[in-house]
Amino acid sequence: MNRLHAFPVIAYLLTINSWCTPHTIGAEKALTAQSGIPDSVQNAKERIPQLLLKQVLLGGPQTERDELRKFFSRLMDSPYARQLALDFIKEDIRAVLAFEDVPGTEIHIVNGKKTFSTFGGHTHRETSPETVHLNRGYLQANKEAAPDAIAHELFGHVVEHAHAKAAGVWFASQYHRDGEINASLIGWIVSAELGGKADDSWGREYINHTDRFCKDFSIMSPFYAQILSTEEMRDPAPVYLRRIQDAEQKLAGLPKLRAMSLYWLKVIAHFTGSHHKMNPASFSDIRNRFDSKLVELRNTESDLCAVKARLKFLLGRRDKMDLTDWMNWTVQLAAADRNHYFTRTDAEVDERKRILAALYSKLKPPPKTIQGRNGQFTERQLKELWDKDTAHHSLIPWKPID
Ligand SMILES: [Zn+2]
Ligand SMILES: [Zn+2]
Repeated sequence: MNRLHAFPVIAYLLTINSWCTPHTIGAEKALTAQSGIPDSVQNAKERIPQLLLKQVLLGGPQTERDELRKFFSRLMDSPYARQLALDFIKEDIRAVLAFEDVPGTEIHIVNGKKTFSTFGGHTHRETSPETVHLNRGYLQANKEAAPDAIAHELFGHVVEHAHAKAAGVWFASQYHRDGEINASLIGWIVSAELGGKADDSWGREYINHTDRFCKDFSIMSPFYAQILSTEEMRDPAPVYLRRIQDAEQKLAGLPKLRAMSLYWLKVIAHFTGSHHKMNPASFSDIRNRFDSKLVELRNTESDLCAVKARLKFLLGRRDKMDLTDWMNWTVQLAAADRNHYFTRTDAEVDERKRILAALYSKLKPPPKTIQGRNGQFTERQLKELWDKDTAHHSLIPWKPID
């Protein structure tokens, strides 16, 4: 029994969840009407984190725990997050939440804004209760994205793992795509409800080009590379082989992208150097962009190599391991595909996709680049400058990339 039921207000918050319409604040309003609490949404915003933090243990030093509490309170501005928090409380799910250093994380400035390109967080399934690690980079950059990263891990993965365990599909669920897609949809919905201030390009890509998104996503990290759609679970081997080819194709394109960034950094150095003596400050935004592109490409390269290694390992099971192991593994996946649990998560994906599409239709995407910020050169202006300059120089010191 949920020990939180001992408190009347808590019990109330918990019971409303069973009859309210999900994804609205209707439940909170109804709660107010019956209990006489003056401001229901405000009350829920204050109460829910208090209840939630009885089940989510915050780790790390005091300053970091304070920062996590701030993220939680911001998270409660999202009606969808409040709803999911009530589910979390009702189901008495437990978790630990703390910051962690994520290898490869570098804070760089894009459009005058601090950011990082490594992942925002992850959930350790192997600990009990499960541990959610949030990228320590959020202490310095991308703060507006931290609440949705928490929602993704806590209300997505931790909840999903508990459900999969209860449904007896713990093993197969690790290989099922819905877990990640549902968690991502939760994060994107929360982010949109919080005003869409964080970069939402992946969410919009998912809504507008679902197939392309799923293809890119499947070679983004070794973890994503092994997960399969309900359909693909029936026969993973050809899917994994295709993904290895996709990863190799992408790897082959990286040197050209790297050369492009290095080329433009050289062009900038030419303008700020002894020949033109232009003010280096007016190139700082664009230089940062190419610098961060190089960091991103380095991370992409190591991710793609890890993707290939992971997929080769999974495929290798067929050769190196006992055939029975391979059979058991694939049979379990194929059986899971017929499990009602996965039918339900498929339906959740569809429902959340609909909610997100409706939110995006009302929300303008955040601007990708700030044109001409503080007299900064844009990519277009840099290219024009370079075209003019190369027309005057009789000898170009290096060859442009085609
Ligand atoms: Zn970790
Ligand atoms: Zn995830």
